[in-house]
Amino acid sequence: MPHIAIRDVTKTYPGRRRRDAAVTAVDSVSLDVERGDVFGVIGYSGAGKSTLVRLVNGLEPVSSGSIEIDGVEVTTLAPAALREVRQGIGMIFQRFNLLRSRTVRANVAYPLEVVGTPRAERRARVDELLRFVGLADKADAYPEQLSGGQQQRVGIARALAASPSILLADEATSALDPETTDEVLDLLARVNRELGVTIVVITHEMDVIARIATKVAVMEQGRVVESGATYDVFTNP
Ligand code: ADP
Ligand code: ADP
Repeated sequence: MPHIAIRDVTKTYPGRRRRDAAVTAVDSVSLDVERGDVFGVIGYSGAGKSTLVRLVNGLEPVSSGSIEIDGVEVTTLAPAALREVRQGIGMIFQRFNLLRSRTVRANVAYPLEVVGTPRAERRARVDELLRFVGLADKADAYPEQLSGGQQQRVGIARALAASPSILLADEATSALDPETTDEVLDLLARVNRELGVTIVVITHEMDVIARIATKVAVMEQGRVVESGATYDVFTNP
């Protein structure tokens, strides 16, 4: 059974004004992401990548089609059940989305606070995560005292706090310079290899796909126009 099975999913937004045409952001997309994959989704801006991620994460309802995670149909779940599924999905973002007023430690602890993890357990888990991402010495720093690459490592630690089986990375290296991008991609590769987390990497950068993704889907205007092993998709015969 695929870890994430996307079946004929379409997402249409109504026009922003009444006379505007509707926008089909995701158009009849089907994809299988297997457990343990690092799966890349590449396409230009506006191709529908972020929308697809929001649908998988249950942040928005699909217009039609089905999405199964671990064999569970998630498009029709009641809010409480959906929240539970979303606990199993971590997200990282282009702009890191850290809370400025909170320390590194408190940012990473945040998702655990939300689910009511006891303080002692939270501490131990946060310490372990900060060691894993190489930022144990920055626990008491504030996000703005860190470099972009360090902030994204905090983002990764936070995304992993609730021990998700899936990590969705939406343009996670697009705000970083090439060297820092490499560091963050190396960390994501370790998350996949050492923790067994399935990773979906959304990007407009071919280099990112080439560095980390074993499989790739190419999106254009809401559709998947090509997909398969990265080597096959990007190697011209
Ligand atoms: P990408 O992540 O590949 O840049 P998006 O998923 O952000 O693409 O956008 C796909 C299309 O859907 C674009 O035409 C965009 O303008 C449109 N779109 C995205 N979100 C909304 C929204 N909330 N309301 C209306 N249109 C949207
Ligand atoms: P304060 O708000 O007291 O200045 P922080 O901003 O560091 O301290 O902490 C904010 C939140 O992070 C608190 O809710 C606290 O429970 C939690 N927290 C503090 N230290 C740790 C830790 N070592 N591990 C996990 N959570 C922590």
